[in-house]
Formats: sequence, C-alpha cells, structure tokens
Amino acid sequence: NLSDRLGNVFDRLRGRGSLNEADVREAMREIRVALLEADVALPVARRFIDAVTEKAVGQDVLRSVTPGQQVVKIVHDELVEMLGGQEHQGLLLEAKPPVVVMMVGLQGSGKTTTTAKLAKYIRERHGKKAMMASLDVARPAAQEQLAVLGEQVDVATLPIVKGQQPVDIARRAIESAKLQAVDVLMLDTAGRLHVDQALMDEMKAVAGVSNPTEVLLVVDSLTGQDAVNVAQSFSGEVPLTGVVLTRMDGDARGGAALSMRAVTGKPIKFAGTGEKLDAIEAFHAGRVADRILGMGDVVSLVEKAAATVKEEDAEHLAKRMAKGQFDLNDLRMQLRQMQNMGGLGMLAGMMPGMKKAKAAMAESGMDDKVLVHMDAIIGSMTAKERARPELMNAKRKKRVAAGSGTQVQDVNKLLKMHQEMARAMKQIKKMGGLKGLAAMFG
Ligand code: GDP
Ligand code: MG
Repeated sequence: NLSDRLGNVFDRLRGRGSLNEADVREAMREIRVALLEADVALPVARRFIDAVTEKAVGQDVLRSVTPGQQVVKIVHDELVEMLGGQEHQGLLLEAKPPVVVMMVGLQGSGKTTTTAKLAKYIRERHGKKAMMASLDVARPAAQEQLAVLGEQVDVATLPIVKGQQPVDIARRAIESAKLQAVDVLMLDTAGRLHVDQALMDEMKAVAGVSNPTEVLLVVDSLTGQDAVNVAQSFSGEVPLTGVVLTRMDGDARGGAALSMRAVTGKPIKFAGTGEKLDAIEAFHAGRVADRILGMGDVVSLVEKAAATVKEEDAEHLAKRMAKGQFDLNDLRMQLRQMQNMGGLGMLAGMMPGMKKAKAAMAESGMDDKVLVHMDAIIGSMTAKERARPELMNAKRKKRVAAGSGTQVQDVNKLLKMHQEMARAMKQIKKMGGLKGLAAMFG
C-alpha cells in the first residue's frame, strides 16, 4: 500500500547524508509510482510531484546538512496541502435553524452510521439539538436501522411513515424539526451500488426541497480509484460542502484521502475510525500525512494513550519513547494500554514501525486474546529478564513458558514483537524524539 511504498522511499532518503538532484528525481519517480498504485488520480499525482520536485531540487535543500530530512519535510508539507491544509474545517451550523445536513454517497459507504455518529457529535460538541431522518426507501429496513442508531446515541429520529417518497419525507422532516425547535436536521439518504442518474436526480430533488447548509459526501477510504469516480460524479450534481472518509481504521489510507480534496475542491471534514458510534474524528491533514509517510501517528497515539490510561503512564511512555528505550516492562504496559485502546488493530495503524510488528502478529495468528497470554508471559519473567530481554536463552524460555501456561514458541513470538517495537522506538529517538518529530512535522 501507499504507506509502505512511501515509507521505503523515505527510509532510504533519511539514511543519506547528502543528496544530489538525481537522487531527488529518482525518489520522485518512486513516489509517483506509489501514488498511482494507491489510486491517486493521475492529474493529482502529477501536480503533486511537480510541486515537490521544484522545491526539492532547490539549492538550499541539496546544500543543507540533512537533505534527506528536508525532502521528507517538503513532501510532508505538500501532502498536508493536498489534503486541505492544517486547519480542521468543522461543520457549518450557524444558519437559521433547522440547519439541514444532508449525507450522500454510495450504498455501504457508511452514510447511516456516520449520520448517527455526527448527530451524537453535534449534540455533544456543539451542544445543539439534533434530529435524524432516513430518506432511504430503497433498502429494506434502512429507516429502522437509523431509528435503532438514534436510540443508541440518544437523538430523535423522524417517525417512519411507509410508502412516502424521499422528497416527501424530507419535507415532513423539516416541518417536524421546526415544530420541535430542532437546531440541526440530519438527512440520511439512499445509496446505490454504483453511481446512476436516478440516484443523482433523487439527491438533487432532496437538496432542492431541503436547502441543506451542509452536503457531506461519505466515501469509503478503502475504495481506491472508485472513490475518485464517485466524488467526481456527486460533485458535478449536488452542491457538496465537504467529505467524510470512513474506514480510516482500515489499511488503505492513501489514495482516496489524497484525491478527494483535489477532485471535489471541498475539505475533508471528518474521518470515521470504526464501527462504534463515537468512532469519528475531526480530519487532521498533518496527522494523515504523517501516516501516509509511514511515520506513524505518534501525536494521536500519545493523546489516545493519555485519554485511556492514567496520565503518569502516558507520560512515562512518552519519556521512554523520547529516549528510545523500550524493555519488556514497557511492552507490558503497552499491552495493557492496547486492551484499553480498542485492541491491536487500532494501535498498529498509529505507531511507527508497527506495520512490521503487525505483520508479525498477523503471521502468528495473533488476536486480542493473545494480549492476555503475553501479559502472563512477561509476568513469569524475573525483573532482570524484563529489563534485559537479551538474557532470554532456551532454558529461561522453557521456564517462562511453563510458568505462564504457554509454549516456548509463544515466548519467542513475544520477544520478536518486542524487538520490532524496540527498533521503532530507536527510530523515533534518531529523529530527535517526540520533540524532534513535532519540530520536523509540526
Ligand atoms: P450506508 O449504506 O452508506 O448507510 O452504510 P452503513 O452506515 O449502513 O455502513 C455499512 C457498514 O460499514 C456497517 O457495518 C458499518 O458499521 C460500517 N462502517 C461505517 N463506518 C465505518 C468506519 O468508519 N469504520 C469501520 N470499520 N466500519 C464502518
Ligand atoms: Mg444507509
């Protein structure tokens, strides 16, 4: 995927003391291929490469002491630019109530889920009274689905009247919202498996009667070039005001995110990061750029840690990371945090070097239950072994396996995983620790 490919290019660049123009052009060629393979639209990739090359072959970069890092920074900044800039673009909700937020997108992109997530977000973060209405008469039980979600997030939904058409439901929703002094009315619309004219006509008609302040295109970030086509089709037909990228908790984070802003000209406002109804985040271009570069999202990792574990633990972790230290005690603390933070998948996407560790985990068929075993393995070690894992010879491994009710191969897997993570910590240190990262990418 894009992160891996770019990660490789940059690993090489970072290691170089000096660069010449040929190095830069070579790197740009690889970046271009990586972008195209990740389904970034061709004109977007071309524009990106041109902008970066122009800045990177400038004399200052080549003469600087850390040209590799400079190029990485230029690419990073350009990615941020392409993703819409550092500033988060929030929802526009200040129009005369009821403010209408219309959700559009293909079937299965996550519209209904995102509608409920945003309704909750609007109530909690904006302190506004929200209401939701499903205009999806195409899919059986779609309206009921929204009603169930409404109960879960404690936001009212428009009572279902069977046989009504989308435009009529929209009219009724607006009337009802007015009567109940609703601030924000969320309209969840029907999708299709593919873009077709009937869908576009329906969206236009609904927008026509509901005069939405926000029209958010919901796009599955796992769909590559398709996402670009979808964005193009919708933005030609309805007045989009923003994009929500769903499934950002998944693996393919590159292509769709990068093309979306360029294709629609509209900001990516939110990222969906899971199936749970609070799994939605303000979209931060800088963080996504970091992830794409394979740097891992250290900042949000630490924030996440701070939110879910005791503050001292998070501070301790950050300090150890800054020093490039990471022994089995740290791993154990991490394992416990992982359990708090939503398991392995979540963390693996956020930490530098975790891609390799994640691959190692997948290889060994590891799941969240294994976290408990790993905890037991570390618990069966002596303090000395935890601080110095290199002491673990065959005899010690056997003892620890017996003590924790596991197999020697489980102990080996744990040690391998620890090594991967320790290496990642060292990498962070080489780049000047967390502060260095922040300075480089802030
Ligand atoms: P719709 O057809 O566009 O209304 O899509 P739904 O909202 O019904 O979502 C389809 C599926 O995608 C459901 O199983 C959701 O739980 C799931 N889903 C939606 N958003 C996300 C997300 O951000 N991450 C993950 N992992 N799953 C999501
Ligand atoms: Mg739906």
